[in-house]
Amino acid sequence: MTSAEIRQAFLDYFNQQGHEVVASSSLIPANDPTLLFTNAGMVQFKDVFLGDDKRPYQRATSSQRCVRAGGKHNDLENVGYTARHHTFFEMLGNFSFGDYFKVDAIRFAWTFLTEVMGLPKEKLWVTVHHTDDEAERIWKEEIGVDPERFSKLDEDNFWAMGDTGPCGPCTEIFFDHGEEVFGGPPGSPDEDGDRYIEIWNVVFMQYNRSADGEMTPLPRPSVDTGMGLERIAAVMQGVHSNYEIDMFQNLLKATAEAVGTADLDNKSLRVIADHIRSCAFLIVDGVTPSNEGRGYVLRRIMRRAIRHGNKLGAKGAFFNTLVSALVKEMGGAYPELVKLQEHVERVILKEEQQFAKTLDHGMKLLSEAIDALQGNIISGETVFKLYDTYGFPVDLTADVAREHQLGIDMEGFDAEMEQQRQRARASGSFSVDYNDKLSIDGETAFTGYDHCEEQADIVALFKE
Ligand code: ATP
Ligand code: MG
Ligand code: MG
Ligand code: MG
Repeated sequence: MTSAEIRQAFLDYFNQQGHEVVASSSLIPANDPTLLFTNAGMVQFKDVFLGDDKRPYQRATSSQRCVRAGGKHNDLENVGYTARHHTFFEMLGNFSFGDYFKVDAIRFAWTFLTEVMGLPKEKLWVTVHHTDDEAERIWKEEIGVDPERFSKLDEDNFWAMGDTGPCGPCTEIFFDHGEEVFGGPPGSPDEDGDRYIEIWNVVFMQYNRSADGEMTPLPRPSVDTGMGLERIAAVMQGVHSNYEIDMFQNLLKATAEAVGTADLDNKSLRVIADHIRSCAFLIVDGVTPSNEGRGYVLRRIMRRAIRHGNKLGAKGAFFNTLVSALVKEMGGAYPELVKLQEHVERVILKEEQQFAKTLDHGMKLLSEAIDALQGNIISGETVFKLYDTYGFPVDLTADVAREHQLGIDMEGFDAEMEQQRQRARASGSFSVDYNDKLSIDGETAFTGYDHCEEQADIVALFKE
């Protein structure tokens, strides 16, 4: 089955079960300053769950474009390293606004996977929240799932869109990609591998979490589910990685051509193919590269992609040329992309031209710093210089560092920023608040290695 056929089969199935088919909303959440980007199908229904908005239907289904590149759900650092993460992906979902609850939600998901998709039951693993005896009973007694492939987990089975807002316990379905792939079942010591891949999360929306962490029950218990289209497509097409599915094939080929490589399995190629999707759709939804907020996240993703192209030997601006391949692949499902193709190309080209001026010099400085390095942490001074003089977002430097199995000194970087600020203040000149530059709605834009502990973990990981 092609991705397009799977998307359609999903919407058709839920429509037959009385769900209104609702179009994907924008990647920029409407009226929600707490959220950087739409990161799940439920975002456009947030107020309906909270009881603050009403719709003429109580059941809905959608294929929602999502970006997870900042904020609570941030997968930027995973792209290129796992088989299952993108910055941009499509989330298939079904929703109940105070209508059906656990029994039907579980039944629908199971029926879709085992009957409509025809997946063998022995390949599917299930988890529920450790307090959720009701969901456990439904799975074991009503569905008859094998207890061998069932487990109860803690944080992994409690879903929240952000630090505040609707949330609740969930049940997740995993697909076993087979012995040749490393990784243990959910909850096992080596679950971090990619053998058991989470395909579907069924959330029982029950609470609203406020800023102080207090959870109040929602007016009516509801259901919110999300299944990554690319992940179910990988399962249905008998491939392990999302990057091997139909939707990515032409994109990867176009990317390989644009940068001049023949190696289609290259990690950088995957990063670029992933990033063109998020960049193009963010631009379609009105974001432009800038030095703050959402625009800075877009700039970070673009510069990261451009650097990966440069690494593969791309000569000149290449990233903008991938838009036409993307339009071929996704224009059918997203007419807005077709309409804005030229605009998207122009915005990307401009950023490429701007970054080209400093990329080579910055890379040279970084390579020299890496060659001269004693130990395995790149100094805050170097990271700052790259940021300040060469326009290298911190996560881009961290990305290069990681390729060399190195970390970066974030504390040192922060100290350099602080000094810069003080110098600006002392000289009485206009001061640019670099912290503001890096912050998004009160959160730090780069959250990859900004804690010493995390960084130590990463360094330790590479030493193993
Ligand atoms: P994972 O544990 O694999 O990171 P998740 O638990 O963060 O996934 P959810 O928030 O539960 O994901 O989102 C619902 C579904 O959306 C997932 O089950 C998965 O199929 C899909 N999904 C989540 N993140 C991504 C991503 N970065 N790229 C592609 N699909 C994703
Ligand atoms: Mg995740
Ligand atoms: Mg998960
Ligand atoms: Mg999940």
